[in-house]
Amino acid sequence: MILSELTSPQVEVLSREIVCLIPTGATEQHGPHLPIGTDWMLAEAFGKAVEANLPEQVLLVPTLACGVSPHHMAFAGTLSLSPTVYIQAIQEMIGSLVAHGFRRFYILNGHGGNTPANELALRMVKQSHPNCWLAHADYYQVANSDISQLAGGVGMGHADEVETSLMLHCRPELVQTHKLVDDGLEPVPYVSGLITNFNERSLHGVAGNATQASVELGEKLYEAVVGRMVQEVSRFAGTITLLGQPYQG
Ligand SMILES: [Zn+2]
Repeated sequence: MILSELTSPQVEVLSREIVCLIPTGATEQHGPHLPIGTDWMLAEAFGKAVEANLPEQVLLVPTLACGVSPHHMAFAGTLSLSPTVYIQAIQEMIGSLVAHGFRRFYILNGHGGNTPANELALRMVKQSHPNCWLAHADYYQVANSDISQLAGGVGMGHADEVETSLMLHCRPELVQTHKLVDDGLEPVPYVSGLITNFNERSLHGVAGNATQASVELGEKLYEAVVGRMVQEVSRFAGTITLLGQPYQG
């Protein structure tokens, strides 16, 4: 089910155990070759694919297309919400659905800057609504082993071969293939948890080898991510056992 395509009376009669699936992305620079909307477009594409596979178990909520992107602000076109505003937006989207009786929420995220904020937002919702079922996942983490296997040992970077290939599959008309670049300097020595802005580690706003991207890789990555996400959301939609008892929330 797709929330935006239903009428209010149709929403009224839905099962309240349906999983409200919220794609979250970003509107931020993606190098010289990918569009600003890459992160929300991919999160939404995966959200739509999950819904198409599980139409009776999933209610697809409109994508939150603006994310937490202060580290990309040196590049034109980036829109960034402060973490506080972003967390509040998630809380209030969920709160609106809770007001109408829904209680299972799954955030499908496509932008790394949102991850800590998604966790905090859901922790806060759990505090105010203990009977809600809540989970969040970054699609590229859920499918990390497949991505690494398909892309020759690398994980998801930024506007890199993985993301560019996915866009070549999902929105090929928006990829400027004559502008692909390899970019993104890793700090030497590598320091775990180092906080940087993107312009401090990348000349063109890319982290990875975008020139390695291909339509074929994109198709394989897309299928792998969809398979993993359908599996995850389907588990979340089913019975979860905690302390030997079916979880009631
Ligand atoms: Zn991205």
